[in-house]
Amino acid sequence: MNNDLQQIVDAVRQRHRFVVSSHARPDGDSIGSQLAFAYAARALGKEVTIVNRDPAPAPLMAFPGVPSIQIAGAVTGDFDAAVIMECGDLGRPGVSGLDRFPIVNIDHHPGNTNYGTWNWFDESAAACGEMVFDLVTALGAPMSLEIATHIYLAILTDTGSFHYSSISPRTFDICRQMLEAGVDPVAVARSVYDSNNMGRLKLFGAVLSAMQIDPSGRIAIVYLDHEMARAAGGTYEDTEGLINLPLTVKEIQSVVFFKQHEGDEYRVSMRSKGEIDIGSVAKEFGGGGHKNAAGCTVTGPIDTLQKLFVERIEQAIDGRPAHR
Ligand code: 5GP
Ligand code: MN
Repeated sequence: MNNDLQQIVDAVRQRHRFVVSSHARPDGDSIGSQLAFAYAARALGKEVTIVNRDPAPAPLMAFPGVPSIQIAGAVTGDFDAAVIMECGDLGRPGVSGLDRFPIVNIDHHPGNTNYGTWNWFDESAAACGEMVFDLVTALGAPMSLEIATHIYLAILTDTGSFHYSSISPRTFDICRQMLEAGVDPVAVARSVYDSNNMGRLKLFGAVLSAMQIDPSGRIAIVYLDHEMARAAGGTYEDTEGLINLPLTVKEIQSVVFFKQHEGDEYRVSMRSKGEIDIGSVAKEFGGGGHKNAAGCTVTGPIDTLQKLFVERIEQAIDGRPAHR
């Protein structure tokens, strides 16, 4: 067992009450990693409270334990340690008060700032859920169906349904073990991907109709503002997964999705295929993420922003280092 993991195992064993958090606007990996740890720690007699700033995406509400996650901007109460999953820095959760406790930092994002009392960082993990699998195993918690379901959920979603280059033989080995523990991959995929509402489909239609392609034909530019969402009868949460659709076109190498937040402020999500590193593009703009999936928040006139991002992504596709 590696030393960082060993220290976290010791820290968990020696403590009793844990608060667990992850990044704002949680995804399948953050929810799955948090709950897999929570079920394992509880099985070992620990008390675990999960606090997230934002609720889980609607399709994940059906997974075990998700409705019991506290949604709050601050931690109240006393804990022996805070376990933070999937966060490159301590600002990502958007939950205040976590720093009142010793911190266990478990993450797979490049550029993690080592903000924890104990830090375990593995960029090679396809999902934080892969690391949580190791932790659960090292803690000696029995692999229950709940834990296995959450680890599988984390891996399925964070690999983009086994699309991203972070996948390794280990990824499938863990998934195999999760299936042996009773996970039904068809049921999980149905819950995650086939439980949408009609507003979401209409919103996808509206956003994709307005999609633009860069002159080289390799980059899809997608845009959404509050007015478009209202007109289509969907919400911003309904756009989860939309960004992956343009990548299904053979020629498209990368997608950039601008979502208006307020006025001139935009949430930017990016995706790419294979070796194209858009994580470094996001980092340039103050965000972060992985080679094939990353994001940031930027402010400015949308036309200028679109031009700027397309330029940087073209450089990433052509394998040139990005300069500002
Ligand atoms: P998404 O496009 O789904 O919001 O994010 C894709 C990936 O990029 C996720 O792994 C997420 O953690 C990372 N990411 C997205 N936005 C930000 C950001 O503003 N800052 C950092 N550090 N990472 C981000
Ligand atoms: Mn992740």
